[in-house]
Amino acid sequence: MDYKEHIAIVQDWPKEGVQFKDITPLMDNGPAFKSAVDEIVEYAKQLEIDIVVGPEARGFIVGCPVSYALEIGFAPVRKEGKLPRETIKVDYGLEYGKDVLTIHKDAIKPGQRVLIVDDLLATGGTIEATIDLVEQLGGEVAGCAFLIELTYLNGREKLKNNDVLTLMQY
Ligand code: IMP
Repeated sequence: MDYKEHIAIVQDWPKEGVQFKDITPLMDNGPAFKSAVDEIVEYAKQLEIDIVVGPEARGFIVGCPVSYALEIGFAPVRKEGKLPRETIKVDYGLEYGKDVLTIHKDAIKPGQRVLIVDDLLATGGTIEATIDLVEQLGGEVAGCAFLIELTYLNGREKLKNNDVLTLMQY
């Protein structure tokens, strides 16, 4: 399926010079959204994963239906101060700024095979930080899946040692 017809490109948002890829039209199209999620589900089945992990907020949108389909858990990665129980954290740089990501300390059991899911791979900072959190907890990152990859930002460089699926490339 050609998913790109369901992506809106927004010039100069959230700041000048950025061409934001908006996935909400894809989410609004039932068959296209289901097809995209199903492709990630099929990828996940090959990897024999135990749990899905996704960074806020769009990682929840793409990751939760994958975990639902596979009848396995979903663990959220969130900005500092958002998770209610004991967390571990990591500092990271992203396409437009710097931040801290956290995960509950008991979200992943040592040895669990993890699929990390997000909407978009840009510089790879977010995914690198998420991998760091998973590995700090003893999880094994079996693969990473994204709807969109911005190839010109070379995020894949940071994922050289990981299995990666992207459904659209720009
Ligand atoms: P990275 O950390 O530079 O790879 O940026 C990826 C993160 O920023 C993801 O969590 C995305 O949701 C978000 N992001 C960056 N650029 C875009 C965009 O054009 N559209 C949607 N999300 C974006």
